[in-house]
Amino acid sequence: MPEARPVCDQWFSTQKINDRLYLITEPHYYWFNRANLWLIKGQNQDLLIDTGLGVSSLRHYIASLLDKPLLAIASHIHFDHAGSMHEFEHRAIHAAEASALRTGDDYEALCSPAQGWVLPEHFDCLPYEGFTVETYTLKAAEPTHILNEGDVLDLGDRALEVLHLPGHSPGCIALYDPKSQELFSGDVIYDGELLDQLHCSHIPTYISTYKRLERLAIETVYPGHYTIFGQERYSQIITEYLEFRRQPGCPSE
Ligand SMILES: [Zn+2]
Ligand SMILES: [Zn+2]
Repeated sequence: MPEARPVCDQWFSTQKINDRLYLITEPHYYWFNRANLWLIKGQNQDLLIDTGLGVSSLRHYIASLLDKPLLAIASHIHFDHAGSMHEFEHRAIHAAEASALRTGDDYEALCSPAQGWVLPEHFDCLPYEGFTVETYTLKAAEPTHILNEGDVLDLGDRALEVLHLPGHSPGCIALYDPKSQELFSGDVIYDGELLDQLHCSHIPTYISTYKRLERLAIETVYPGHYTIFGQERYSQIITEYLEFRRQPGCPSE
């Protein structure tokens, strides 16, 4: 019998990046799947980009940081990003993954038990008494906003463009601020092992997405996993991926 894990005092952690940006994470969860949740403070509206696992109330946790209407956005349907979408009144996801959120599709979210992505050893304490990975599920939530390529989210003092960037999954989006050249990139690009062989992934599409990203002017990337990076690392990641995937035949042969 494995020893029962204790319940966490606090499930989330917050880092203030600047006056209009906060990073929220789930530090007691497995680093490899631990997502970055970005809270953008706008003049008329706030945006939350990604919502974590949904095992503790993110809405309550961030309540003290909110003073305006909030739109919660899932960069894509995977469980580490869309888990708490159900908690928020206004919720947005790309059209290609809207039905998966609406139905709480564990397979598309990568959290059905047979897929093996959510394991007990990934929790170094429990989010609440009685939590088990066997009963973990993506909670269904009707999207109130459907996002598509080219949509603009106007926060009053800044506007973010929706970029549809499939490859990791069909409904992956990033949000781009053309003025500051900041990119909130979800799982499209981050400085770690890229996942392009999931059941929902498509490598030729991922390559097309990276060719598009090559042409994007970038100052700072706020990714869905790992650390913030700038233009130089951004270009390196794209170049390395395209070179790796352009090799003829299977790289493992
Ligand atoms: Zn993902
Ligand atoms: Zn992810």
